[in-house]
Amino acid sequence: MSQSVCILGVTGSIGRSTLKIIEQHPETYSVFAISAYSRIQELSEICKQFRPKIVVVPSDKLFELQRLLKQENLQDIEILCDEAGLVAVASCPDVDVVMAAIVGAAGLLPTLAAVKAGKRVLLANKEALVMSGDLMLQAAKEHQALLLPVDSEHNAIFQCLPQNYLHIEKNGEPLLGVQQVLLTASGGPFLNHSLEQLQKVTPAQACKHPNWSMGRKISVDSATLMNKGLELIEACHLFSIKEQFVTVVVHPQSIIHSMVQYVDGSTLAQMGNPDMCTPIAHALAWPTRITTHVPPLDLFLHSQLDFQQPDLVRFPALKLARQAMQSGGLAPAILNAANEVAVAAFLAEKIQFLDIAQVVEHTLNHVQNSSAESIEKILYTDEFARNIATEHIAQLES
Ligand code: NAD
Ligand code: MG
Repeated sequence: MSQSVCILGVTGSIGRSTLKIIEQHPETYSVFAISAYSRIQELSEICKQFRPKIVVVPSDKLFELQRLLKQENLQDIEILCDEAGLVAVASCPDVDVVMAAIVGAAGLLPTLAAVKAGKRVLLANKEALVMSGDLMLQAAKEHQALLLPVDSEHNAIFQCLPQNYLHIEKNGEPLLGVQQVLLTASGGPFLNHSLEQLQKVTPAQACKHPNWSMGRKISVDSATLMNKGLELIEACHLFSIKEQFVTVVVHPQSIIHSMVQYVDGSTLAQMGNPDMCTPIAHALAWPTRITTHVPPLDLFLHSQLDFQQPDLVRFPALKLARQAMQSGGLAPAILNAANEVAVAAFLAEKIQFLDIAQVVEHTLNHVQNSSAESIEKILYTDEFARNIATEHIAQLES
């Protein structure tokens, strides 16, 4: 029987790649529900092609979507709105698989709803896990959800670990002979920029990643290395491993997507052309494998693979993220909130590139950390941290 898929954030880069895979496997997967925040014309074209039963949009986009669907004779598609609509589709009994591909904190409650409904959850929305950490993992265990990593590095680590690793109790110590996780980073578009050069980079330059085509927020995160910081936190939670067992390795070619080192001296790597369709297909079909359009890796074309240490002076965001993970509690949520606000301000040309990490550091220093025992507390702290970051940005502007 075909599996019914809900794609949260269908108009985004990950959402689009997910549609590409589903399109290739119409007997195995069908699109049941989709959501988008903007680009409603594009959304209606997706509706025309994939015929979902439910679509979720912000309420101020409702009439626009209704009008477009009517033009296409698609009035039978149900439209839901806002966060309540996202939560409803993510936990709908008719849905088997939820692709969590909304960017940022906006994806937290819908992703958590999917987990609590015991779905197979394909996690692209790393910010949701960074914010909620243990709570998300506990909910997955309690409700027997299968939380599968879509982030290429985490998907690679997952592929390099023993099959049953996700289901083992570990209390932070690596088990099964694992010594270290090597989280690879491309280094982003500014890998070799000096601090003086970094000071002057523009949003357009930051969004032009050398190897991956991604949404604007994650592109800026890749340029500051905050993306690797968020991924470090994501890895600690997904594989219940302490941060000192996760080493970041800059690998500019993005051919090795991450590695796992074992106590016997083995290092396992997952390799492939940098295309998110591979990890998406892996998470969709796991433990089986399905075809994608991604061409097989031609090692003769990629005969040189380089590795280097990350530079924490030019890219302090990575250091801040590691410190936040060490502090624990609400610190990762504070880091994430400040980063989202700072990246938006950079994209709006209100602050400069190097200010991003500075805003995050300021916010971490001005918001009290404590234990993250409930989602309500996490959301309250997220809001509070956003206000502190926004105030600081206003000071930087004046
Ligand atoms: P994107 O900006 O291309 O797409 C984001 C999607 O979320 C869009 O469909 C948008 O309409 C929706 N959205 C945005 N704001 C929203 C809001 N407030 N409420 C509801 N929906 C909203 O982003 P992307 O590159 O596809 O990334 C999505 C997520 O996947 C991010 O968390 C990112 O870190 C993660 N991720 C992306 C890649 C990649 O290659 N693009 C790789 C790994 C992980
Ligand atoms: Mg990644």
